[in-house]
Amino acid sequence: MVDTIRTKVLIVGGGPGGYVAAIRAGQLGLDTTLVEADRLGGTCLIRGCIPSKAVIHVAGEFETMQRVSKKSRHGISLTSPPSLDMPELVRWKEGIVNKLSNGVAALCKRAKVRVLSGWARFSDAKTCTVEGKDNATVTAEHVILANGSVSSELPFLPFGGPVISSSEALALDTLPKKLVVVGAGYIGLELGIALRKLGSEVTVVEALDRILPLFDTELSTPVKRWLDRAGVTVHLGATAKGLVTEKSAHALAIQTKDGKTENLPADKILVTVGRQPLTEGWGLENMAVDMNGRFVRVDHQCRTSMRNVWAIGDLVGEPLLAHKGMAQGELVAEIIAGHRRRFDPVAVAAVCFTEPEIVSAGVAPGDPITADVEIMGAMFPFAANGRALSMGAGDEGGFVRVLARKDDHRILGIQAVGAQVSELAGEFALALEMGARLEDIAGTIHVHPTLGEAFHETALRTLGHALHI
Ligand SMILES: Cc1cc2nc3c(=O)[nH]c(=O)nc-3n(C[C@H](O)[C@H](O)[C@H](O)COP(=O)(O)OP(=O)(O)OC[C@H]3O[C@@H](n4cnc5c(N)ncnc54)[C@H](O)[C@@H]3O)c2cc1C
Repeated sequence: MVDTIRTKVLIVGGGPGGYVAAIRAGQLGLDTTLVEADRLGGTCLIRGCIPSKAVIHVAGEFETMQRVSKKSRHGISLTSPPSLDMPELVRWKEGIVNKLSNGVAALCKRAKVRVLSGWARFSDAKTCTVEGKDNATVTAEHVILANGSVSSELPFLPFGGPVISSSEALALDTLPKKLVVVGAGYIGLELGIALRKLGSEVTVVEALDRILPLFDTELSTPVKRWLDRAGVTVHLGATAKGLVTEKSAHALAIQTKDGKTENLPADKILVTVGRQPLTEGWGLENMAVDMNGRFVRVDHQCRTSMRNVWAIGDLVGEPLLAHKGMAQGELVAEIIAGHRRRFDPVAVAAVCFTEPEIVSAGVAPGDPITADVEIMGAMFPFAANGRALSMGAGDEGGFVRVLARKDDHRILGIQAVGAQVSELAGEFALALEMGARLEDIAGTIHVHPTLGEAFHETALRTLGHALHI
């Protein structure tokens, strides 16, 4: 039976953008309907942030055991090498995903959100039909589009068979002996590094002349060093040309920087050349909203060009990050409930869970603003940080770096590379959002021994009086 539902707020897409919008709208007492075709949680929870970090975690543990089985380390040795059960790893990861997805369902229920399971297709800006487990026609006063994004495909290397996207890479039941990763952005390198740690032979092909192009070379150099040490071959300035299959053996044909053609043998070819907004297959063309290139155009309140149609998350553009979508989801729900809000963050920090990890918040060297404003800055190495050394992580070339305005010492950007620096992202974002000056960080007692002390020392060093270097 097809229900007809009238709702105050209709949200399409149950990823981090959409489900946060739904929970907040429900909390604010708005009659809210959330439509999701898959499990609740979206790319982030089901096949992105969370499962990738679970696999990365296990890969790190496995690599440590592997290393210790070859040579004792810090007084620990293993008499035999560890073995890997990929289906068990994937089951464990799925357990976490299920727990979190069920958690989102419970939070929606508590906020009295009506959740419909099915695919939404719009016939006009405020009306959609839902087809799936639930079947309904929904009309709404407000529509929040949170349809998210999908992996970009290379037309000459379509997904299928040995050519996989990040989603399949997170559900492998056997470890590929040889893996070729096309694209050295954060998703390709996070997964490539994890699979290398688990034992795959990994080769990376990148069209640009450097890895991790969204981060500056000071930050990406320790990662490149790790790749070199781990025996990962990186072809820079090289382009993938297509799949070559001979007698059921696969290879990726590439053109190298110097114009030569090479075939890279591969059991799996992981294509991670970016993500694109999901703008087809759900009637966006019937909604008369303006576009901004491939993305849906929104203003500083996430309003589209159509009255009371809002859009958030990956659908509206960079940065394609879960926490940006969540912030926009919360904001839009509050605006609909009558609050005065605008999406105007000082910084959306980005983390790269590579080996070592990278975090970047705000202005980095080379940013156009650094040409107009007089800048001061410094870095502090983790080699001089007690916590990093006590974690066995002081020798990977990691550091914290701060950039500030010379005139008033206001901090404009903070970056770090090193083991577990992702956990510093919150402090960095807070400092920028609160408009902290170098003196604010220098005057804050940081707990000893923690990685955060390196941030404190960087502020001191920028002011000319570091204590521990
Ligand atoms: C491997 C990987 C690792 C990542 N790691 C990180 C990370 O560490 N940190 C980070 O911040 N970001 C990470 N990301 C990016 C992050 O996952 C996305 O930025 C985030 O999920 C975007 O949220 P969203 O709500 O905009 O859309 P999505 O999470 O893509 O959710 C959109 C949802 O809408 C549903 N949907 C779409 N159209 C319809 C329709 N018509 N009807 C019904 N349902 C529909 C889809 O099924 C989907 O569930 C990663 C991504 C990948 C692929």
